[in-house]
Amino acid sequence: MKSSIYSMTFEQLQTWLVEHGQKKFRAKQVWDWLYKKRVDTFEEMYNLNKDCQLVLEENFHLGTLEQEIKQESKDGTIKFLFKLSDGNLIETVLMKFNYGYSVCVTTQVGCNIGCSFCASGLLRKNRDLAAGEIVEQIVNVQKHLDTRGKEERVSHIVVMGIGEPFDNYDNTMDFLRIVNNQQGLSIGARHITVSTSGLAKRIYDFADEDLQVNLALSLHAPNNELRTQIMKINKAFPLEKLMPAIDYYLEKTNRRITFEYILLKGVNDHKEEAKQLVSLLKDKRHLSYVNLIPYNPVDEHNQYDRSEKQAILDFYQVLLENGIKCGVRVEHGTDIDAACGQLRSKQIKKDKEKQRA
Ligand code: SAH
Ligand code: SF4
Repeated sequence: MKSSIYSMTFEQLQTWLVEHGQKKFRAKQVWDWLYKKRVDTFEEMYNLNKDCQLVLEENFHLGTLEQEIKQESKDGTIKFLFKLSDGNLIETVLMKFNYGYSVCVTTQVGCNIGCSFCASGLLRKNRDLAAGEIVEQIVNVQKHLDTRGKEERVSHIVVMGIGEPFDNYDNTMDFLRIVNNQQGLSIGARHITVSTSGLAKRIYDFADEDLQVNLALSLHAPNNELRTQIMKINKAFPLEKLMPAIDYYLEKTNRRITFEYILLKGVNDHKEEAKQLVSLLKDKRHLSYVNLIPYNPVDEHNQYDRSEKQAILDFYQVLLENGIKCGVRVEHGTDIDAACGQLRSKQIKKDKEKQRA
């Protein structure tokens, strides 16, 4: 069976080519076509010899994602819904910032973590994405930018789409190495952020990787009772397991970590929780940044509301006064289905309704 050529790291492709009677240097040529010239067929790779083209053709797919829907927002955000080769749907979002273009990628079809506020966790995980399927999201979005002819480039990546990246750890690490490699897209590791709901064991592994990629932790509550109520993963990895993993990461990498905190009205947005958050982070505040996230309403989670503006400001103020660096996330694409997983879950609902009719 054919697999996606985008799943291979540079070194894996070199080894594969040699094992298949080809010269090692071909890997550089192939990657040049894939990631710099961004062709759609092996035929176009005209500096490869016929034999090399054929053996690649026989064994690999060049593109497995099919674009189903594209929604464009007034602020330049574009949301793509892609169909995978097995028919599953995933989302990818392109966002425009003053520092460049950032893409938010999906790592799994659905998510088993099932956080109480998230549209992605509404449907259980169907499967993990292969590394190539994550890479292809970036390549496809870059190809979209190419069509505009303005030399625009994907410069940043956030692994914050559907799924828990640390529940698909090896493929996510391959993905990071592929997009970071200078022979390919060469997206700087410091421009890439992986977000996790807090699989503590994997935070230790991630700290030990030879990657300079940033880490974000979805914290959302400063104590176990509240965190378990909002995110059931906290039962398996409560704060007393999570915080030592974070400390290990900080000590090992000396890189700043982002703590994500969704503000849910009357649930976790009181000054009391802000004070608790200060205590939780005070010994690591020099390497901490708290990202306060306005809740994006999800129809199925109507127990939650967005915090009042004043509550957000008060929360922010408490953190700031106590020396915790923080910011309130600027929202993108509010006029389209912006919350992660929303476009996908709406499309699945529509498809089901069509089947019933
Ligand atoms: N599974 C990983 C990465 C994907 S979720 C994680 O949980 O970190 C990426 C971010 O989007 C997380 O911080 C998550 O909490 C946030 N998010 C999910 N649903 C949201 C919603 N309805 N409104 C605002 N942020 C949301
Ligand atoms: Fe999964 Fe992250 Fe959504 Fe939680 S917030 S259900 S971990 S995608």
